[in-house]
Amino acid sequence: MAKDKQLSTYKSKRDFRISPEPSGDGKTSRRGNRPIFVIQEHEARSHHFDFRLEVDGVLKSWAVPKGPSTDPREKRLAVETEDHPLDYADFEGVIPEGEYGAGTVIVWDAGPYRNLRGGKKKDKGRADMEASYEDGRIEVWVEGKKLRGGYALVKTGRKNQWLLIKMKDDEADARRNPVSTQPKSVLSGKTIKQMKRAHTEEDD
Ligand code: MN
Repeated sequence: MAKDKQLSTYKSKRDFRISPEPSGDGKTSRRGNRPIFVIQEHEARSHHFDFRLEVDGVLKSWAVPKGPSTDPREKRLAVETEDHPLDYADFEGVIPEGEYGAGTVIVWDAGPYRNLRGGKKKDKGRADMEASYEDGRIEVWVEGKKLRGGYALVKTGRKNQWLLIKMKDDEADARRNPVSTQPKSVLSGKTIKQMKRAHTEEDD
């Protein structure tokens, strides 16, 4: 699918004269050799974590109210949201009051990923990821600063509702709880509160 078409929902929800978010018109079709994942903490009307995977030139996106777990017994609700531009992976800051998604965003974790369903092909599993997405079952190996190992996203029977589940592997650890113990941005080192404060002071 053409990137413009994929991002039409993203663009229609936002006014880029007001929001500091990327417009999606940039030319970042490929960021590097390996596809990336990013998790953004988003203190909006309701607090959640946005889990995003590079698929077919955009970031496929899910809002995860409780954030990711490192415990394979935990199934975290992940509500699919609109595709975001690749540029969005580096976005953090404050979306102004009255705008879509108003609130503070930090890059909570990020890194490359590998498709565990296929992925041995020359394109590093990129084509297979589209098929996995259509299937409603995605399995990826993420290499972030906080999260590592296999994660599955499994579509449920309910509209837009998926489950984000840590797969059983050596990186699974029921004792960790990085969502609360590792709150800092992997980009700026700021917590969501510090990010909010920094922007509030700028505006004064
Ligand atoms: Mn969000």
